[in-house]
Amino acid sequence: RDQITGSGIYGFGKTGGRVPVGIGRRRLRIVVTGGAGFVGSHLVDKLIERGDDVIVIDNFFTGRKDNLVHHLGNPRFELIRHDVVEPILLEVDQIYHLACPASPVHYKYNPVKTIISNVMGTLNMLGLAKRIGARFLLTSTSEVYGDPLEHPQKETYWGNVNPIGERSCYDEGKRTAETLTMDYHRGAEVEVRIARIFNTYGPRMCLDDGRVVSNFVAQAIRKQPLTVYGDGKQTRSFQYVSDLVNGLVALMEGEHVGPFNLGNPGEFTMLELAQVVKETIDPSATIEFRPNTADDPHKRKPDISKAKSLLNWEPKISLREGLPLMVSDFQKRILNEDEGKGY
Ligand code: NAD
Ligand code: UDP
Ligand code: UDP
Repeated sequence: RDQITGSGIYGFGKTGGRVPVGIGRRRLRIVVTGGAGFVGSHLVDKLIERGDDVIVIDNFFTGRKDNLVHHLGNPRFELIRHDVVEPILLEVDQIYHLACPASPVHYKYNPVKTIISNVMGTLNMLGLAKRIGARFLLTSTSEVYGDPLEHPQKETYWGNVNPIGERSCYDEGKRTAETLTMDYHRGAEVEVRIARIFNTYGPRMCLDDGRVVSNFVAQAIRKQPLTVYGDGKQTRSFQYVSDLVNGLVALMEGEHVGPFNLGNPGEFTMLELAQVVKETIDPSATIEFRPNTADDPHKRKPDISKAKSLLNWEPKISLREGLPLMVSDFQKRILNEDEGKGY
């Protein structure tokens, strides 16, 4: 263990010396890996707001300090620049493990690093959870279902994934991360939770990450044509980020391992999405068709009955309500970019 690196070593463990938060709940110490990213930073906001101590571990591959700048200086918040493929020593109660590039552009950029992050990163966080008796939550993905032959997808579906394609580093990486999680649960009795997240959007998404919602919104604001890949008839189901964060917390706090689908069952073709973006931002926006990427799943829609009944969770915000909530954030960042301040 002498080799283990990390800046945060704390003198008290799971039960010691905590200040109670509200009635009947002590303050928790929580690690969020990937906490400088899109989903992670919204999760951090919620955990800090409810009164817990949060440590973010991030290597800033796709994450940004700007996403957390409002917490810097808060004594209950700590930010550690660290790559999860390296071991780390910390003392915490809960681990939300999000660290992994999430958009196709980013995870294909260095596919070997993507697999290593999923395998070694998840292994290290599970080893940490085992040593300190912390509860561990994995943010897996709907991509474990691949190009699904079952529709909508239930958690019982084992998926249709190409093991040797361009997306495989992410899909198979997350599938292996799920396997490791269950092996540590069965073999080392680590308390684990698995979320399978469906396409999520909201403020703080990377402007240049190539995902469809961020692309369309940025294109509409910049008065560029919306780029629809393929014939635009493929479907996705889009979840607003606050719904996801509520689902992740409900899963962590609940009694069930999962996996649980966390997504919004509202299903849209990419052409329908382009239409909603036009109506929301610029009715005069045009559409430009581009060739589709390899192995693109034809359809995707979560069956969320399991999360509804066991976690008492369901998304509240429809696409038409959620899209306008990310527009001002994108406008501000695009304006700053234009003014040369960059992000
Ligand atoms: P994101 O790229 O904004 O965030 C990922 C964060 O992890 C970034 O801050 C990045 O710098 C960090 N990171 C990446 N590799 C790391 C490493 N090796 N060590 C330390 N930090 C590292 O993506 P996101 O959309 O916020 O996704 C968060 C998690 O949710 C990911 O695990 C992703 O696979 C999962 N997920 C997201 C979606 C979605 O639609 N947003 C869908 C399914 C699953
Ligand atoms: N690990 C870590 N922090 C800890 C405990 C473990 O980063 O506090 C890492 C450890 O270095 C190893 C991985 O987690 O790479 C798995 O740990 P485990 O104890 O399960 O396996 P072992 O070290 O016995 O191979
Ligand atoms: N897509 C598109 N235009 C874009 C970016 C993506 O039509 O500018 C399509 C893409 O081909 C896919 C869908 O939108 O069918 C969702 O892509 P995204 O990368 O957002 O997520 P994922 O494929 O991981 O679900």
